[in-house]
Amino acid sequence: MSDNGKIYKGNIVFTKEAQQFSCYESGYIVVKGGKVVDVFDRLPEAYAGVEVIDFENRLIIPGFVDMHLHAPQFNNIGIGYDKELLPWLTAYTFPEESKFADASYAEEVYAQFVDELVRHGTTRAVIFATVHTAATEKLFEILAARGLGAFVGRVNMDRNGDCLTENTADSLQETEEWIKQHLSPEARIRPIITPRFTPSCTDELMQGLGELAAKYNIPVQSHISENLSEIEWVKELVPAAKHYADTYDRFGLFGQTPTVMAQWRSPAIWLTSARTISPSPASPRRWNYARRVSRSPS
Ligand SMILES: [Zn+2]
Repeated sequence: MSDNGKIYKGNIVFTKEAQQFSCYESGYIVVKGGKVVDVFDRLPEAYAGVEVIDFENRLIIPGFVDMHLHAPQFNNIGIGYDKELLPWLTAYTFPEESKFADASYAEEVYAQFVDELVRHGTTRAVIFATVHTAATEKLFEILAARGLGAFVGRVNMDRNGDCLTENTADSLQETEEWIKQHLSPEARIRPIITPRFTPSCTDELMQGLGELAAKYNIPVQSHISENLSEIEWVKELVPAAKHYADTYDRFGLFGQTPTVMAQWRSPAIWLTSARTISPSPASPRRWNYARRVSRSPS
């Protein structure tokens, strides 16, 4: 039986070219076999007689791109913000993430997480996993099986992480082995270097991760300047750094390869860096607020 497909009508906004949005008011999307075949501002004669689903004056847009997600925090959704970031991490985040040492637990939670991404229309994402490589592999597999695209980070942390704290050399070696398994440029799910944030990473770990990012040309994600007590702590931990951003920059982790730095409900005025910062699309879930950080020409 031939598939005549379906046609969706509405105000269509999409990027036919990577750098340019196209807008078709009262346009048509032709879908066959579950895939978009073409987009038209006027429906060609050849499609007369095919079912048209009319969304009238509504917008039809591609999937959302979520620039910052913590997949292992799925089961912590909705617990509320009853603590500041740092005690919140030790009270809720780290205990939950420690469960991902069990790959079967990871598989169960990540399957639900990816289901929710799809349900919310998020088709591309930049994601933190945990320090557990086997669990991170499960996330790669589940995302790939669902046809999504993502950068996924096996998290690195070698201090102040309670039971998640890794040995520095082991963390780097395991990360490099993991990267080498995912170097295909055609892959939709790709690795991203992921130092959790400066309080979790010694200079030695940062240096090693910066070298891996450069060696394999891998992007970077982390956090920066999320609240004032954290900023003070970072000053104590890395007295040699000029400012928070420098704790990454000095090791090649701040725009030397494409970099996403996330903040948690804090104003960018806490940043003292001269780097250029511009807003990025955020998920409707708003677990976090992400900003893309690019290298300034200075
Ligand atoms: Zn985050």
